[in-house]
Amino acid sequence: MNRQKFLDNLKKKMKADVSLPLRKTALNLVFGDGKPDSEILFIGEGPGYWEDVKGVPFVGNAGALLNQLLLKIGIQRKDVYITNIIHYRTPENRDPTESEIKAFKKYLDEIIRIIDPKIIVTLGRFSMSKFLPGVFISSVHGKEKLVEWEGKQIVIVPMYHPAAALRSSEVKLKLTMDFERLPEILKNISENDDKIKNDEIQKDVSKQMNLI
Ligand code: URA
Repeated sequence: MNRQKFLDNLKKKMKADVSLPLRKTALNLVFGDGKPDSEILFIGEGPGYWEDVKGVPFVGNAGALLNQLLLKIGIQRKDVYITNIIHYRTPENRDPTESEIKAFKKYLDEIIRIIDPKIIVTLGRFSMSKFLPGVFISSVHGKEKLVEWEGKQIVIVPMYHPAAALRSSEVKLKLTMDFERLPEILKNISENDDKIKNDEIQKDVSKQMNLI
């Protein structure tokens, strides 16, 4: 099965899950959007008004800014995958509670496993705390962090939420500069992956030569 099929099946399962909180007050499930084999996965906070109406993440003002920031670094939105820490809108866009985040966790974790990205960009403090609990966004934003997740090393790049950037020109500047570092971070990861592969090939060759 390909990644899109796995995502479609998971979305069906999630829609049918009557135990999920906020299901009754929301209009639509906002599962995720984009390219299933993207190297970058963005995780935001939760659906707002337009996301709830359309069932798609980041389609309001914050989404327009996210699209702009991506284009600035030569990436089209359709080439990344975007999801949220919770997948139903909270009443009046209040912050999600601990227990709501916990209820959606198993689905978000499965989305991460299916996409298997090289980088996870967290947008805002809620998704950042999933991987980097107890840190301040002001001191870590834009810096790549190697984190152990389910026994695997994964690169997390915490960033400010685009909605916060719409409220403050200072935050917008920081977010723009952090986005501008993304291509370099990706390039470093790819070069490191290539080096690991080459070292493995070299080891194999050396082993075979010793056998002869
Ligand atoms: N803000 C988010 O965190 N997620 C969305 O999908 C939209 C706005």
